[in-house]
Amino acid sequence: MSDQADIIIVGGGPVGATLALTLRKQGLRATLLEARAPGAAHLDQRALALSYGTRVILEKLGLWSQLAEQATAINTIHISQRGSLGRSRLRAEEHGQSALGYVLSYGNLSRVLDHALQQDNETDIRHEAEVLTITPSAEHGEVSYRQHGVTHTLTGKLVVLADGGRSLGDIPGLKRETKHYGHDALVTKVRAELAHDNIAYERFTPDGPVALLPNGPRDFSLVWTGQADAIHGLLELPDEVFLQQLHQHFGDRVGRFLQVEKRMSFPLKLSYLDPVTAPHLVVIGNAAQTMHPVAGQGFNVGLRDAWELARKIAETPAAAWGSPDMFKAYSASRKTDTKRGLLFTDFLVNLFSNDIVGLNRMRGVGLGLLDVVPFVKHRLVRKMSFGSRG
Ligand SMILES: Cc1cc2nc3c(=O)[nH]c(=O)nc-3n(C[C@H](O)[C@H](O)[C@H](O)COP(=O)(O)OP(=O)(O)OC[C@H]3O[C@@H](n4cnc5c(N)ncnc54)[C@H](O)[C@@H]3O)c2cc1C
Repeated sequence: MSDQADIIIVGGGPVGATLALTLRKQGLRATLLEARAPGAAHLDQRALALSYGTRVILEKLGLWSQLAEQATAINTIHISQRGSLGRSRLRAEEHGQSALGYVLSYGNLSRVLDHALQQDNETDIRHEAEVLTITPSAEHGEVSYRQHGVTHTLTGKLVVLADGGRSLGDIPGLKRETKHYGHDALVTKVRAELAHDNIAYERFTPDGPVALLPNGPRDFSLVWTGQADAIHGLLELPDEVFLQQLHQHFGDRVGRFLQVEKRMSFPLKLSYLDPVTAPHLVVIGNAAQTMHPVAGQGFNVGLRDAWELARKIAETPAAAWGSPDMFKAYSASRKTDTKRGLLFTDFLVNLFSNDIVGLNRMRGVGLGLLDVVPFVKHRLVRKMSFGSRG
């Protein structure tokens, strides 16, 4: 079966759904193809780190009031490294923001986005529709997908790929550059002796960074990165032993660790697309760039992709959707933000993930200095909050 649509979004994760909603704000309709069943993402407990700028976007979409109660504010970020006294603290109130960022579960965000799309009822959402191929051509983008055992073809002026980067590898005109860190991230929720007080901790160790983000009234979300083998070993440990090892690894800042939830891990990589040369196709979100979670940037850069693309689509006459000029304008608007996010996270990983004699001390001094140079701190907070517009 075949039919047509103006704008086709492949993937209804947080980025694809935000694009569909932002288009609706501009009075535009899209067709959204999502492989999962309705509501399947709502149980995903993965903790997303939202920047303050992401909150502003969600506010503009009229969604923040529904999310605020489920989000935990990060008021302070405490940065340190193992084996040195240097440390730095970033505080929201010093930068004129009510928070530096928020922690929110993927499931809760998805529920609110999906509900808003349903309420509006103007986006053509096709669930359990797994996209098999995307074929860009000079006239349009062609998408084939399977739904309930039947294969369909859909052509559109503009195809937006927002599949998280995990399903559709070989599309003519797309070339992906990937750097594998050889590290995995273990993610879970833990409870510590001391309350979090809305402080997020980022601790650099020679094995990789470890982050504790306040999540809920009493718990932390843990992101523990390290060599893939070591992380796999941590997944297997009995809870008690795992909690002791975490205490040893992280130090005593929040006391002993008392409880841990289900642990899972994923491989860490940096990946981005060489300039996309496929006509009628735009790639956004994790499908366009995947970053190390060290600075909590990845999801936020993806959301800004969606926001900016919707603006560009709205500014462009429908006849020119998918045209080279529209792509050029969109790419130009996202280039700096994306590049800075990729470079910044990669820089932090490289800077802190080695044990060269002397470098440890210099990094300690650097963190101490950052703590007392307000101008540099302010720039850092603005960039982390708002990307290249900060
Ligand atoms: C295992 C894992 C754990 C993570 N943990 C964290 C974390 O703790 N903290 C953090 O900040 N970030 C984390 N991230 C990163 C974070 O999840 C991403 O930044 C964010 O989800 C990107 O949103 P997205 O909408 O671009 O992609 P996704 O959230 O991946 O959404 C993609 C959507 O596309 C759909 N889809 C995929 N293929 C197809 C297809 N062929 N046809 C139709 N639909 C399709 C999927 O079902 C999904 O709904 C993690 C990522 C992974 C993979």
